[in-house]
Amino acid sequence: MTSSTNQLLKPITTKYNSKGNLEIGGCDLVELADKFDTPLYVIDEKTLRNICKDYKKAFANYHKIKFMYASKALCTSAISRILEDEGFGFDTVSAGEIYTLQNADIDMENVLFNGNNKSYSELEYAIDAGVGRISVDNFIELYFLNKIAKAKDKYVDILLRITPGIECHTHEYIQTGHLDSKFGFDMTLIDNAIELIQTKYTHLKLHGLHAHVGSQIFETGIFPDEIEIMASEIARIRDEFGINLNEINIGGGIGVKYTTEDNPPSVYDIGDIVIKKIDEVVRKYNIEFPTLYLEPGRSIISTSGITLYTIGSAKQVPNGTKYVAIDGGMADNPRPSMYQAKYDAQIANKKDTEETEIVTIAGRFCESGDILIKDIELPKIHERDTLCVFNTGAYNYSMASNYNRVAKPAMILVHDSKAEIIINRETLDDLVAHDVIPDRLKKE
Ligand SMILES: *Cc1c(COP(=O)(O)O)cnc(C)c1O
Repeated sequence: MTSSTNQLLKPITTKYNSKGNLEIGGCDLVELADKFDTPLYVIDEKTLRNICKDYKKAFANYHKIKFMYASKALCTSAISRILEDEGFGFDTVSAGEIYTLQNADIDMENVLFNGNNKSYSELEYAIDAGVGRISVDNFIELYFLNKIAKAKDKYVDILLRITPGIECHTHEYIQTGHLDSKFGFDMTLIDNAIELIQTKYTHLKLHGLHAHVGSQIFETGIFPDEIEIMASEIARIRDEFGINLNEINIGGGIGVKYTTEDNPPSVYDIGDIVIKKIDEVVRKYNIEFPTLYLEPGRSIISTSGITLYTIGSAKQVPNGTKYVAIDGGMADNPRPSMYQAKYDAQIANKKDTEETEIVTIAGRFCESGDILIKDIELPKIHERDTLCVFNTGAYNYSMASNYNRVAKPAMILVHDSKAEIIINRETLDDLVAHDVIPDRLKKE
């Protein structure tokens, strides 16, 4: 079995340099922290391009494949440029993400707009931007879209987001007849939607079905189950409505390795399983080979990203935990406090062969729950040490907030020993940029 980049805990370029410091992308992490300040998001371009290549190789035997990076994992203009360069399209969920892609000069034909409650104005924005597909989630959207399309004398290319009734947990999954989900058309309502498209909503062109069953999935069996359900629906829709749908979007969700306990699947295995299953359903249901969309987010960007922090104060609870505080936390990485996500880390300026201690890494924000890593074994820590937390590329910056009015960190792209800023650190002025003081409250 061939392994893929999402199965690694650290960026592929991670190593100790001659100074005894950790480096990534040929850049010394301690120097990066000095030069750009901390907290600092760092993305290793080589790791990012490698996972893209893994996906492309894994599906090389299926010519009707389209990779749509799920922008919500990390949406920045420079990252979007790299992904388009690797041949990826984009799954988006807001006008803001679409605007970011426009800012990066991305070909809108390769953009899909998705989400469970897109507003009228966002749908209008997406149509004006010329996105290639809109995944319609519910009846009100069908109505809105047709209305907008008609007014603009346009035809809109859509997929129907469905709830296939597969529920997944991280390590196992169960199939349920009915899934309680806020996303998509329930299986029993697909026919109503299609009738409306056939009779009333004539400015909508339906191309296929879309589903997404979950995230941080380790179980490969979920994808063939999804394909089975979608292919049998496509055959049924052909028989009952005389429409040939030839696009299947199976979403994203492939897992990554946050700690040594995680064993995410290889995308090469997923490629084999998915292609085999498509061959099977095409014969079984006598349908044409569909265009297959994959929307990986986390597995594309997570491994390439790390976050650097500077160690501040330490507190030893008598006979208890030793807390070591960093200059960031839940505002730049809300995942541990939101859903007990686990992370692994190293001290960038110390070899991991030094004498160790067990500490809890505490964030700087005013919540007791702002703990980044509980009980991690690290070389004895001192003030001013640089902490490197791994696998922070996905759902860190994209979920970051200004809690406590703390400015969001900068993001650096490292590649061939070069470090380039791709997101500027927010300034104090940025923090008050949208504040308004009504005249009557102003000081004379
Ligand atoms: C979140 C999401 C994805 C990406 O999920 P990952 O777990 O990050 O791969 C893909 N498609 C849809 C529709 C999503 O909502």
